[in-house]
Amino acid sequence: MQYKNTIEVLSPSVVEKIAAGEVVERPASVIKELVENSIDADATRIDVFIEDAGFSLIKVIDNGCGMNPSDLQRCVLPHATSKIKHIEDIFTIASMGFRGEALASIGAVSRMSVCSCIDGSGLGYELNCNGGETSKIHPLAHARGTTISIKDLFFNVPARKKFMKSRRGEQLAIVKMMEQLVLPFPSIHFTLSIDGKKILDTPFCDNPFERIAEIAGAEFAKKLICCNAVKPDMETQIYVSTPQRTNERPRFQSLYVNLRRIDNDSVTFAIREAFSQFIGFGIRPSFFCFLNVDPSKIDVNVHPTKQQVKFDNERDLFGLIYSAVKQGITLNLNKTQTISAPLDQKTDSTQINQNLNSNVSLPFMVREKQEPIQNQPPFSFSENSNQQTVLSFPGSVKQAESEYDQTKESNMQLTKDVQWDLISCYQIHNMFILAPIKNGILLIDQHAAHERVLYEQALEDIVRGRSASQQLLFPVVMELSTTERMIIQSGQSYFNAFGFEISDFGARALSISAIPAFLKNGSVEETIRDIIKYLMDGKNPDSFSQPEKRFAAAFACGAAIKAGQKLSQEEMNALLNSLFSAKNPYICPHGRPTVVRISIDELSRRFLR
Ligand code: ADP
Ligand code: MG
Repeated sequence: MQYKNTIEVLSPSVVEKIAAGEVVERPASVIKELVENSIDADATRIDVFIEDAGFSLIKVIDNGCGMNPSDLQRCVLPHATSKIKHIEDIFTIASMGFRGEALASIGAVSRMSVCSCIDGSGLGYELNCNGGETSKIHPLAHARGTTISIKDLFFNVPARKKFMKSRRGEQLAIVKMMEQLVLPFPSIHFTLSIDGKKILDTPFCDNPFERIAEIAGAEFAKKLICCNAVKPDMETQIYVSTPQRTNERPRFQSLYVNLRRIDNDSVTFAIREAFSQFIGFGIRPSFFCFLNVDPSKIDVNVHPTKQQVKFDNERDLFGLIYSAVKQGITLNLNKTQTISAPLDQKTDSTQINQNLNSNVSLPFMVREKQEPIQNQPPFSFSENSNQQTVLSFPGSVKQAESEYDQTKESNMQLTKDVQWDLISCYQIHNMFILAPIKNGILLIDQHAAHERVLYEQALEDIVRGRSASQQLLFPVVMELSTTERMIIQSGQSYFNAFGFEISDFGARALSISAIPAFLKNGSVEETIRDIIKYLMDGKNPDSFSQPEKRFAAAFACGAAIKAGQKLSQEEMNALLNSLFSAKNPYICPHGRPTVVRISIDELSRRFLR
């Protein structure tokens, strides 16, 4: 290879753009930085306006302390901050920011204006920064506080623009981020307006609990249990939900460490562990955990956008959270003296309402010593056996589908000529169906199988129009967060095709007046919540970048028979019938197997016959 290295020291403008990539990943991260600056400036009112998902305009107005002219001139310099002076300061830091990078980074990749005034004189100053080129400040009328406008984000880094999701995806990320950001600041009034419409408005309130109700809905908040615990270096206040079902997906899992939103698995784990003491493992409660830690016991400087912190002692953290939740649940149990009711049984609402002295209740059964659900023995046939024929194709969905085509012929042989209506099958652990066939047995994952059937049906419904639907005598009304509502609204036409009729019901709720014909009346809310959660988590295979596939998969996952659901003989037969009439019966929409076959030969071998 010809020698071609010539080392160049990068020009400041290139360095700035590279650095900007770390902090300013997408419009939502710009807004996060700006709003955090306003919080650090002690603002009590912060208004955010965006247009075109933040690409044409992001504007943040606050009534905080403002900047004097000389600070204003310096605020966009790289590593310019008023929040720390020495490196040790980051171990006592109480502000959201400290790296002095945000404004410099944002200014490098947009056309930015910063207007600020430090008092009530009405005389402010403006600084412009155009792709990193900073102007001299000039006077401009401005109330006390700061207004920052970002226009044409990423105009000079077109490569970054390509990585952005759809406008809708970016918009959703912004709303989700704002909902998370505002939670621990009940005393700040936030608003968010998108393309001229105010979609989030969280007035001043007394405590985080009220803010949670504002974001997640009052009905949801009412059922939260509040847990507290204190240790010398840390204290916590946790609001946990009491899931109605073992397989319920949590709506929120929000941890705040010294008011910063942080991801940390041990907290999630500690909460689940505490729950498992009472109701068996596998429960995934929603939670809002506010943790205050002595800043010297954590390192906040381990992640460029501060989404993670390092704890000196994770075991202490685990212990604190675990004991707080365990004690919270116990206290609540004593208070409400909830009578045992089966886990999957709906809560008796009258019982909850009788708990007049508390706004929380524990609507589930206590199962102190019950065998953890997930520890039940797996179906032993298939365990550790490499002899079985698994009709599955690990890897990507695409790969799976192409392999599927190759083996389609032989698979067809297996299930051909079988009269699924007549076959006697057995349900195992309310999860799998065992069906004898001519030359062996089939094991079917009831959820995955139904998912496949519904997925194909949903895709057809989208092409053909409306699926069979049933009107509800009493519409189901559901409270949703703004993000959740936006998700439903963004797929309105798909939901109509699947057989739902969904309309707005006041500011915070949706009303569902018709549902797909096959869906059980009582499971409407649960289904919709599962669909939302699926879409929100966004952990989809690549091929789901097409919205129709994504919504079809979400619908299939949310509406399909769940593991744990008992099925009648007829239901099992009907499911097998539809599965083997599907175009692609052997894998679920995510590429996981729906069916495992064990042949008579294999069984004989295993019995050493
Ligand atoms: P950091 O927040 O890490 O200090 P930034 O680049 O975000 O770095 O901001 C640089 C400085 O600009 C801050 O330290 C602060 O002094 C000032 N500043 C930024 N935004 C505001 C605001 N909304 N109100 C008052 N001062 C601000
Ligand atoms: Mg900052």
